[in-house]
Amino acid sequence: MSGKTHLAVGIATTYAIIKPKNILDFAVGFGICALGSLLPDIDSGTSKSHRSANKITGVFLILIALMWYLEFRFQVQIENYLLSNEVIMMKSVGILLFVGLCAYGRDLPHRTFTHSFMGVFLFSGVLALIVPIKYLPYFVIGYLTHILLDVTNTRKINLFFPWNKGGVCLGWFQSNGLMNGVMFICACGLGGIEVYRMIEKILVK
Ligand SMILES: [Zn+2]
Repeated sequence: MSGKTHLAVGIATTYAIIKPKNILDFAVGFGICALGSLLPDIDSGTSKSHRSANKITGVFLILIALMWYLEFRFQVQIENYLLSNEVIMMKSVGILLFVGLCAYGRDLPHRTFTHSFMGVFLFSGVLALIVPIKYLPYFVIGYLTHILLDVTNTRKINLFFPWNKGGVCLGWFQSNGLMNGVMFICACGLGGIEVYRMIEKILVK
């Protein structure tokens, strides 16, 4: 399926299940759900997420280089600061691991690690170090809808990576065929109504 279909179905499904109580939770949840819905396709060279992953990796490497330079030039002892602040330390480790997982998944064949239960488990576990735990379900639901949608396609996905290399698929639809457009329109319609009602409810309170 295309990125916009994954995003629309991920958002519609997430907000059918989770009802945030305030606008902040809604907005943060939206962003995290979008991340979960799109992230698995970083392993597809043509996807936008793949290009974003390249940019994020690039920015990250520049930041590391900058840290080393600052350390060397001014001896600011960044690691002492990090080690003295547990929360910042934990989040930094989480971000490092998250970028590492992205780099690992990005270079593997399409529909393997990032489209597997192992991928869901590892990305979710690492994200739990970075964001408050209450936002994790947004990511997991977005991610799982991506995998479920891809399973309906004609191209196999390696759900049980690194085992069972054969992969599975139901073979119902082409990933860029008619059903891709139908699902996108349905998800936009249903998701749009759901989101509108939810925002209305939050604002009326
Ligand atoms: Zn995919």
